[in-house]
Amino acid sequence: MKKAERNRISKRRALTMLKNADLLELGVEAEGIRKALHPEGIVTFIVDRNINYTNVCINKCRFCAFWRDKDAPDAYLLDEKTLFEKIEETIELGGTQILIQGGLHPSLDINYYVKLLSSIKKRFDINVHGFSPPEICYIADSADLTIRETLVILREAGLDSVPGGGAEILSDRVREILSPKKIKSSRWLTVMENAHRIGMRTTATMMFGSIESPEDIIEHLDSIRALQDRTGGFTAFIPWSFQPGNTELSRGLSQYTSVTAVDYLRVLALSRIYLDNFDNIQASWVTQGLKLAQVSLRFGANDFGSTMIEENVVASTGVSYRVSKEDIINAIRSSGFRPAQRDTYYNLIKRF
Ligand code: SF4
Repeated sequence: MKKAERNRISKRRALTMLKNADLLELGVEAEGIRKALHPEGIVTFIVDRNINYTNVCINKCRFCAFWRDKDAPDAYLLDEKTLFEKIEETIELGGTQILIQGGLHPSLDINYYVKLLSSIKKRFDINVHGFSPPEICYIADSADLTIRETLVILREAGLDSVPGGGAEILSDRVREILSPKKIKSSRWLTVMENAHRIGMRTTATMMFGSIESPEDIIEHLDSIRALQDRTGGFTAFIPWSFQPGNTELSRGLSQYTSVTAVDYLRVLALSRIYLDNFDNIQASWVTQGLKLAQVSLRFGANDFGSTMIEENVVASTGVSYRVSKEDIINAIRSSGFRPAQRDTYYNLIKRF
């Protein structure tokens, strides 16, 4: 079944499916699409490291447990030496990418980012997947540049690809409550469109399970499907669930109940069905654990994401699954799939 042969589903049908479809029926449909796109049964993962260069952030999103004020006792900005050591260690462990992102630090300007990127590229042969759309907009605004100009400057300095962070739910009604200071949906999409137009690949993400409605989830999926139709620049879609620990939002939600395994699988499967122009859907073992990530492989996912040599943002909510590369390989294999290490662009590097 090629992409063109599948019937694109409408927003209305997707909403009905998200709300009412039988979970296993959704799974069977998503699994069928995954199989058609990846008939060889390979499930990929990448060896990389999350480097969060600063936890200082002026946005103070209500769902985030990671940010600190600039003068907080545990506020930090990584120095070059620490950063380089982390990259060296990543390369020694077979890593091919660093995912570098952080808060919106009021003292950093575009020169900091240009210097950071060029100093990394001067020393290391590694893909720099960095700076999610809120950071790109912050850099652009403080330098009085357009988003496109900013992306071109960062790319010339060494930025290779852009992570899809900061999307949460692409509905301004939801964003107004979750993260009123953060960029609105249209700017997130504009950053991604500009990145694609200058030849950079990016991922798309969605954080669900906070205060959004099923309609908001469909709106989000529809926005990224439409952009992918225009540019084809997304490599993958990564849905994960809100982790309430240590967040202002969870303290304000008196009756909050966490996303269940069933909710997660339902959204994952529907994403695979709705996003008919995405090749890759990632399972999120970081938020769901390895066991549910294994089940995800029968609900449309074909990628296990990163080995996460380091992870700080989800860990700051109190959720921390520690797994090794071998754990990931075993988890994939014991689910009946063939594990393979990939690069940022989903090229296979090594089969296991
Ligand atoms: S989610 Fe990102 S932008 Fe929002 S407070 Fe946390 S670090 Fe800042």
